[in-house]
Amino acid sequence: TSETLDLKSLIRSIPDYPKTGIIFRDITSLIAHGAGFKQSVRQLVDPYRGQGIDKIVGIEARGFIFGGAMAEQLGVGFVPIRKQGKLPGEVIGQDYALEYGTDRIELHADAIKAGEKILLVDDLIATGGTAAAAVDLLRRAGADIVGSAFVIDLPELGGTDALRAKGVDVHCLIAFE
Ligand code: 5GP
Repeated sequence: TSETLDLKSLIRSIPDYPKTGIIFRDITSLIAHGAGFKQSVRQLVDPYRGQGIDKIVGIEARGFIFGGAMAEQLGVGFVPIRKQGKLPGEVIGQDYALEYGTDRIELHADAIKAGEKILLVDDLIATGGTAAAAVDLLRRAGADIVGSAFVIDLPELGGTDALRAKGVDVHCLIAFE
């Protein structure tokens, strides 16, 4: 039997990154810890076992690290959502608002078959803008989004509420106020 780790203590907080006044929650310290990484992957997938998930969809870039391991756990495929211009095949794209300006994420047009059951993953949800754009993109592709999983929630920024308002089940492992 193994101890349950306090995953929050394995997240490193870096002040003033990427700019003054922001505290960046750094998951590299969590994924460098073997038992911590393993527990986080297990806890991300556990609520979604037995729900007929067909594919894990991970958001660039840190969503790939957890999502790849989660797909292996469930024995299903992994599909990347990437920043504009990174995927080699035909894509569909979705714009979303940033604090200043807009950004665009893309999905291979043939990556999801209509009706496929999807679990969306990223390392952290803040305002929810990225995840909401991913949900819109996946729904345009015909995905049935069974749920979403994030290692870290910043609840004050309202992202999980926004995602739930879109009818998406949300599961997070850790919160930082
Ligand atoms: P949102 O779109 O919800 O406002 O921001 C979430 C996105 O920004 C995620 O893709 C996440 O990886 C990234 N992000 C924003 N702040 C942080 C942070 O403090 N730590 C990490 N690891 N990612 C962050």
